Amino acid sequence: MNGALVIGAGPAGLMAAEELARAGHPVTVAEAMPTPARKFLMAGKSGLNLTKDEAPEAFARHLIPGTPPEAGYFTAPMTPAEVMGWAQGLGIEFFTGSTGRVFPRGMKASPLLRAWLLRLQTLGVSLHSRWRWQGFNGDALIFDTPLGQRLLHPQATVLALGGASWPRLGSDAAWVPWLSAKGVGIAPFRPANMGLRMDWSPAMSRHFGQPVKGTAIHAGGISRGEWVISRHGVEGGGIYALAAAIRDGAEATLDLAPDLDLSILTQRFARPQGKLSIGNWLRRVLNDPVKVALLLEWGRPLPDSAEGWASRAKSLPIRHLGPMGLDRAISSAGGIRLDALTGGLELRALPGIFATGEMLDWEAPTGGYLLTHSLGTGRWAGRAAAGYLASAR
Ligand SMILES: Cc1cc2nc3c(=O)[nH]c(=O)nc-3n(C[C@H](O)[C@H](O)[C@H](O)COP(=O)(O)OP(=O)(O)OC[C@H]3O[C@@H](n4cnc5c(N)ncnc54)[C@H](O)[C@@H]3O)c2cc1C
Repeated sequence: MNGALVIGAGPAGLMAAEELARAGHPVTVAEAMPTPARKFLMAGKSGLNLTKDEAPEAFARHLIPGTPPEAGYFTAPMTPAEVMGWAQGLGIEFFTGSTGRVFPRGMKASPLLRAWLLRLQTLGVSLHSRWRWQGFNGDALIFDTPLGQRLLHPQATVLALGGASWPRLGSDAAWVPWLSAKGVGIAPFRPANMGLRMDWSPAMSRHFGQPVKGTAIHAGGISRGEWVISRHGVEGGGIYALAAAIRDGAEATLDLAPDLDLSILTQRFARPQGKLSIGNWLRRVLNDPVKVALLLEWGRPLPDSAEGWASRAKSLPIRHLGPMGLDRAISSAGGIRLDALTGGLELRALPGIFATGEMLDWEAPTGGYLLTHSLGTGRWAGRAAAGYLASAR
């Protein structure tokens, strides 16, 4: 087969394909699912946070390498400004939220994806859906396709198979044993940006779906972001921000009144309960039924003094059953170890095969970091693969 094969039509693979095609190489993209970029489209359902409008150095500080990377591709393969410029080139307009998060005006991913696929078609990229990579047969790559099994021998290959979260959208990490067997080092996948599981008491069911605002979570850092009580546990940006620390063993506590110091809160709890039920009394003190429910849920045994209540409300243990699994995590940690890759994202054990995107061993918080780094490493691997093809000519 002439030219390059890109496996996986998510943001990383499509960006690698664009770079290869721009360099003048024939490019085929093989995608297992019936349509491309399903996770990208899902990301757009709640508002596509494409990047974070900040300096590359600030941006890079949020990227957490699981294994030591070679410099270059890891720090800023595509800066936030470059990502915005690239998407503007596809006719997408943006707005930047108060926290610097950048969204398309329409919030959705589909207009961007439509314009991108059209551009790739114009560049001559050929996309095959329902082509599932199934591993190696010697040096050949085996595919299950609608026309039966195919064996391909591309001149250069870019693997862009995604991480291991939300496997029903396509990235199921089935490739791990195939690459391991070829000597590629792989760090085990773990959930990242995930909620925490809870065994709620029946009293909490009336709060399912409710947002929790104006709190601070402490767990190896502080998160002031909003989060949500769900049937399964606690989820949302405020939790995801510290999820990696909690996953790695940090104890999590909740401050229900982060803007009040302990002495002022103690004065509030000194208000007599009188004939009020405990719930009504706490509602008057805290002025928020969701916070009261959490205090009663996680604060037992209940304190018997104003000082005791105040310190419990300032440092309420988050009594969780551990992180949610990969099936509900926004992203994953783990994947191809960075020391298994050259600075050009070529697999040291398999020359001519490059890897990119979330299948590599890095993690990052939500906030546009995941997409920007997937696009950036896609561009980096695409350029390196183009250079490899050029030197082989
Ligand atoms: C609900 C949700 C919301 C998100 N929101 C945001 C957000 O707002 N901002 C942000 O920055 N990030 C967000 N993310 C994360 C972001 O979508 C991912 O980090 C990004 O899509 C990773 O890109 P990728 O190309 O590496 O992998 P993927 O997007 O997972 O693409 C991998 C592709 O490879 C294909 N594939 C897998 N195995 C095979 C095989 N054997 N053969 C052929 N093809 C195969 C898959 O079908 C898939 O199309 C969100 C994720 C989720 C789940």
